[in-house]
Amino acid sequence: MTYIHNTITKLKKTSPAQAEFYQAVEEVLESLQPILETNEEYQLNSIIERMVEPERQIMFRVPWVDDQGKVQVNKGYRIEFNSALGPYKGGLRFHPSVNASIIKFLGFEQIFKNALTGLPIGGGKGGANFDPKGKSDGEIMRFCQSFMNELYRHIGPTTDVPAGDIGVGAREIGYMFGQYKRLTGHFDGVFTGKSLLWGGSLARKEATGYGCVYFAQYMLEDKGESLAGKRCLVSGAGNVAIYTIEKLYQMGATPISCSDSSGTIYHDSGVNLDTLKDLKEVRKVRLNEYLTAHPEAKFIPIADYPENGNAVWHLEGAQLAFPCATQNELNEVDAKALVANGCIGISEGANMPSTQEAVEVFLDAHIYYGPGKAANAGGVATSQLEMAQNASMQRWSFEEVDEKLKVIMKNIYVNASETAAEFGEPNNLVLGANIAGFRKVADAMIEQGV
Ligand code: GLU
Repeated sequence: MTYIHNTITKLKKTSPAQAEFYQAVEEVLESLQPILETNEEYQLNSIIERMVEPERQIMFRVPWVDDQGKVQVNKGYRIEFNSALGPYKGGLRFHPSVNASIIKFLGFEQIFKNALTGLPIGGGKGGANFDPKGKSDGEIMRFCQSFMNELYRHIGPTTDVPAGDIGVGAREIGYMFGQYKRLTGHFDGVFTGKSLLWGGSLARKEATGYGCVYFAQYMLEDKGESLAGKRCLVSGAGNVAIYTIEKLYQMGATPISCSDSSGTIYHDSGVNLDTLKDLKEVRKVRLNEYLTAHPEAKFIPIADYPENGNAVWHLEGAQLAFPCATQNELNEVDAKALVANGCIGISEGANMPSTQEAVEVFLDAHIYYGPGKAANAGGVATSQLEMAQNASMQRWSFEEVDEKLKVIMKNIYVNASETAAEFGEPNNLVLGANIAGFRKVADAMIEQGV
């Protein structure tokens, strides 16, 4: 334990005030205890010290002109965390909360998630503290172009391949790719999540949500349970939540909630997918408008959330939960409410949506818990399938990509659960996922020398 403790203390001293990053590191290091304390090779190679230090961090100014003609300035980031397994791979997040700690935690998680996919991709992440909400299309385009004016020099199809995350979808990828092409003159597979018209992969848009549901299915099947007939709580209303809801219906389950920054929709007979897509993919408006089409549903505004809690997780009558919004959206109070209300399983579509205390509640209650870095890895895995199609100048059908996604999610589940069993905690997928991902990256780093 001293080795881990000393590493965290040193980290806090050298990179102060990075709460989310420490949280992610502590969670991973705690799980690694059984192999770290005994493996002299890892210690001799200072593998942990090297792994918590990004290979490269880029921070840059992003100036852009708003519709009033005023120059606005945001902060841009790209963190190239670890390239032991392949080119840096990970999304870009545009959200006002973005700072160095958030990008670092996301980049750190990405290393292990990408390793778990079994595909040759390293870990990276980026973004900006830009708020796309309420911005015109022209403002979004000018912001994306300015962001690329710096980022273009750092990325490439075999070096660093960004994609989307919160606030970055096909439109933003299009504007950034266009600028990359103008600046370099190259039509490279330098982004994933591209439009289907120019190099995108079928099923990439759906992949994170679908993968998260496949993961839940494998986790339940292993214990003789199934998704069919289950009522499910889903948070979020973005790409991940929408395609989690779509796949839950296809598997015979009933998703009864979704949420955004204005509040939570509770629809007892099941969230209407067409309405949700229309509100969020087409009209890009807030969720309270859902009531216009479905007055029988209930909207809980943020102001009415339970004290120190998230209303989604306090809804009753569900057996499964799919946190698909953002980090730390589910705390200890919420976790206790879920368990008390009879929830038997969690599959995380978002990155680190449960606080450490919430995770403890799930593990202590012995319910099925699929941590984000395993359960939501289908998105980045399908990004790698997009890279493979681009590199070979091929285009696979939706069914082909979806089949590969299922196999990848199954392998991730089996790998995490077998690793957990190997270390004497068969149902602890946090331990299993962290150790399985870590071992692969650590061994690759050792093989490649210092
Ligand atoms: N942002 C997604 C994630 O958190 C996808 C990254 C990618 O496709 O590169 O994994």
